[in-house]
Amino acid sequence: MITLALSKGRIFDETLPLLKAAGIEVLEDPETSRKLILPTNQPDVRVVLVRASDVPTYVEYGGADLGVTGKDVLIEHGGAGLYQPLDLHIAQCHMAVAAPTDFDYQKAVRQGSRIRVATKYTTIARGFFAEKGVHVDLIKLYGSMELAPLTGMADAIVDLVSTGKTLKANNLAEVEHIMDISARLVVNQAALKLKTAPIRRIIDAFAGAVQVPESA
Ligand code: AMP
Repeated sequence: MITLALSKGRIFDETLPLLKAAGIEVLEDPETSRKLILPTNQPDVRVVLVRASDVPTYVEYGGADLGVTGKDVLIEHGGAGLYQPLDLHIAQCHMAVAAPTDFDYQKAVRQGSRIRVATKYTTIARGFFAEKGVHVDLIKLYGSMELAPLTGMADAIVDLVSTGKTLKANNLAEVEHIMDISARLVVNQAALKLKTAPIRRIIDAFAGAVQVPESA
């Protein structure tokens, strides 16, 4: 049995065409089914639905042989024990620092002020600001980062940006582009040794189906 860990939503939807290229069709719709283990048209391949931030953990500990997860999630997890053979170029977005339009972020940086930054992505944020030499107090949140500056709890946030609409709707503006983000295929290293042929087949089919956008 080969088990693939996916999260609902964008990752699931954008992985379907890659699975199709590998001859795999998921037989139930995660939006309507309450099942967490979804069968496929291949009796020896199944999909498990987990929280996005749990995908690397399932693959690391062998709850799944493979998984699809964002680069952001992988960096925060640390990537230990995971083979990362492919950038799938799906779920594309970028990580950014954003601040209220009336906060002079560049001035605060120039003056060496301590900046309070709210984020779910503390590893990425810590690394970015350390490299820039900016003093920050990081406030760990698990969602709705945009709210932190609006309530006066933080000066800025580090979050994923796709269209920029969420920032705009909350009077925030991007002040730093940290890194481009896309989803990666991750593989359990022991599973790759024990089930080399079927896993290789999936990796090769995915590699052949990946569409690299012109901007990448
Ligand atoms: P947008 O308004 O299109 O810029 O989307 C920003 C919101 O969507 C933020 O709350 C992000 O956390 C979330 N988001 C955008 N892209 C992704 C992605 N690829 N994976 C997970 N969350 C995302």
